[in-house]
Amino acid sequence: MAYVYFDGDFVDESVARIPLMTHALHYGTGVFEGIRSYGDGERAWIFRPGEHFARFRRNAALLDMCLEPTDAVLVSLTIELLRCNGAFGDTYIRPLLFKSSAQIGAGLPPGETLAIIAVPMERGPVPPKPVSATWSRWRRFPAASCPAGAKMTGLYINSSLARADALARGYDQPILLTTGGDVAEGFGANIFAVFGRKIVTPPPEADILPGITRQTLLDHWAQLGHAVRSETLAPEQLLKADEVFFCGTGMEIVPVGRIEDRVIGDGQPGPITRAVSQWYRELVTGQIAAPDGWRISVAPGERSAIP
Ligand code: PMP
Repeated sequence: MAYVYFDGDFVDESVARIPLMTHALHYGTGVFEGIRSYGDGERAWIFRPGEHFARFRRNAALLDMCLEPTDAVLVSLTIELLRCNGAFGDTYIRPLLFKSSAQIGAGLPPGETLAIIAVPMERGPVPPKPVSATWSRWRRFPAASCPAGAKMTGLYINSSLARADALARGYDQPILLTTGGDVAEGFGANIFAVFGRKIVTPPPEADILPGITRQTLLDHWAQLGHAVRSETLAPEQLLKADEVFFCGTGMEIVPVGRIEDRVIGDGQPGPITRAVSQWYRELVTGQIAAPDGWRISVAPGERSAIP
């Protein structure tokens, strides 16, 4: 897409450039978000931007960053960005706030830059295609070492290494364990396991990034009266699950057909996975009602009121 929001303006992507001395480039001192909008070509809807920007702000505070625009303004800037790019199809939206001072030396020097980028992203198939997974050689970093639940740029070296390792060994996705050996999460995605009628996902104490998709699903099942638990999962338990799937904004819902040489269920998406992926798609695309504020409309010609 041609336009990005960069340091206070909507500019052509080709002019949004950062200097070599930028602090975040050296030390990973940035926070970011991954938001999606779903459109029909004529109008799009951004899914849960309020929750994403609230998390963005919480994470920015952890790095002593100043995020001047209010959440409402951030949503307006995002709407404006999609509008000026004519992005009325399916789009991935990446807000990024990074330490931009030109300073050698770690620490948290003041001075940050806000950017918002939008790129087209196709929705995955429903029912989704199963993937193969492997126990990652790389453990999820513990909360005692860094804010494990935060979406910070530098922390993603863990995800990059884990994915590269899985691909190099012939698997589609890694499953990361905690340093204590419990199941933590996937690559940019949380993980769920189904045992009969019980649905389990690792708790925040398992050093996960507590995803907005994870919470959306937990609330949905709680409303339906399902037995759903946020509790510790051992790798051996996961291998015995009837269904295992990843979930996240980018990934949506992705079933795990096998973990190394162990086939999960019959290797195909199970009934809970199929039902939840259908429900999630209907929710994000507006085929079923969503709670107030979850889907924010973007249409051509509408100018958002950026205060
Ligand atoms: N874990 C990690 C490490 C992630 O990067 C993401 C994606 N933000 C998730 C989990 C899933 O979070 P969400 O559902 O909010 O996209």
